[in-house]
Amino acid sequence: MKLIKGFRDIFPYSDNVIEDSVLWNFIEKSISSKLENYNFEKIITPIIENKTTFNTGIGNDTDIISKEMYEFLLYKDSQVTNDIIYCLRPEGTASTVRSYLENSLFKRRKINKLYYMGPMFRYERSQKGRYRQFYQVGAEILGSKDIFYEFELISLGVDLIKETGIDDFVVEINSIGDINSLNKLSEEVRNFTNKNKEKIQDSDFEIINKNPLRFLDKAIHKYNFEDIPKSSDFISSDSKLRFDEIINLLDKNNIKFNINHQLVRGLDYYNDLVFEIKSDSLGAQDTILAGGRYDKLVSKFGGPETFCVGFAAGIERLILLSSSDVRKKAYERIDFYVAYQKPDFKEFANEVCSRLRKIGFNVLIEYEFKNFVKQIKSADKMNSKMLITIGEEEMNAKSIKIKDMSSGKEDIIKNKNIEKDIKNISNNEK
Ligand code: ATP
Ligand code: MG
Repeated sequence: MKLIKGFRDIFPYSDNVIEDSVLWNFIEKSISSKLENYNFEKIITPIIENKTTFNTGIGNDTDIISKEMYEFLLYKDSQVTNDIIYCLRPEGTASTVRSYLENSLFKRRKINKLYYMGPMFRYERSQKGRYRQFYQVGAEILGSKDIFYEFELISLGVDLIKETGIDDFVVEINSIGDINSLNKLSEEVRNFTNKNKEKIQDSDFEIINKNPLRFLDKAIHKYNFEDIPKSSDFISSDSKLRFDEIINLLDKNNIKFNINHQLVRGLDYYNDLVFEIKSDSLGAQDTILAGGRYDKLVSKFGGPETFCVGFAAGIERLILLSSSDVRKKAYERIDFYVAYQKPDFKEFANEVCSRLRKIGFNVLIEYEFKNFVKQIKSADKMNSKMLITIGEEEMNAKSIKIKDMSSGKEDIIKNKNIEKDIKNISNNEK
């Protein structure tokens, strides 16, 4: 029995950070709590969708649709039951928009701020920072064109990244304009690359022939073309105005960013604002978070014209970059380790545990008795914040001894007063 290539198990105490469930859990919790701070609400959609959900919006000549999707048909008695192609979702925006429309979320509220978190599937070459099942967190704002929502999203993106202790990152922004400007840019990139044929690899010409914008997304970094046409040459005055506004807002709020006029996104549905957050420390897979405005997607799905802006971030890449502080904190989960001196004291120790758990503490007790000293050593090894010991004296007095593992300070409290007295002792009140 073997795990499929590009897939991973995630379990406690793995030596590999992106397979360590304790760290995953900690980071997922801090990401969700940041999203809730910004008042985003969770949307949960199925992992399987009809293929049309994705090829309608993403674009048939993209890598995702043309070669990365896990597609399947349903069989019964060796016959295909119908001709619907299902697939494992490769990204979250199309599913969110499908659900938004099917459930008429726009009728309940004019503006919906939604987030999702979960596995995505793409059949691509697996390597560090790139897996076939990977996890994304995404945030989408549907129903408004207000520039402050664009600001809110970028600011949230930056906060999510800081939340994982990453400080070595850059925000890049660009405006790609509307469909007319993109068509013009495509045409000009095609002309430019034709004129510079001898400098460009044949394999990149395959990309250019299909869609010159993909060349900007995937291959431009390989060449040093200073004079290649850029989006800012073709955007309308409205797009330019919006771009100036977001730049202004970011500046005023001290969010650092670089303007990158060669930034285009790999999916078809974007217009005007696009942005990415990158880190050099990631090596070749340098994008942590990417997003932009996609005002045409809802109407492409048959819905009313709806202004939308969103982003998605790769959770593995966040975890790979997480700071040692965050990693350490993820392991400070245990509030109390309860150690008992003799097997006979187990029942009393267990009662203490139950009472502490009831008021919300994380409590560890080892029921398979081991030597008292070994238990005390375990408390330290497991990073427990406090150690409770129940020795002969405590047992007789029906009390417990509590030691703060960082300061070394000790207290004794009566078992019957635990709920009240523990609050004065523990530095993490529940
Ligand atoms: P890339 O250029 O790295 O292929 P992308 O443009 O395909 O990224 P998006 O579809 O915009 O990526 O997804 C947003 C984020 O999801 C990426 O910035 C990255 O952090 C993460 N991501 C995308 N594909 C993978 C993958 N195969 N494995 C791990 N993370 C991924
Ligand atoms: Mg990709």
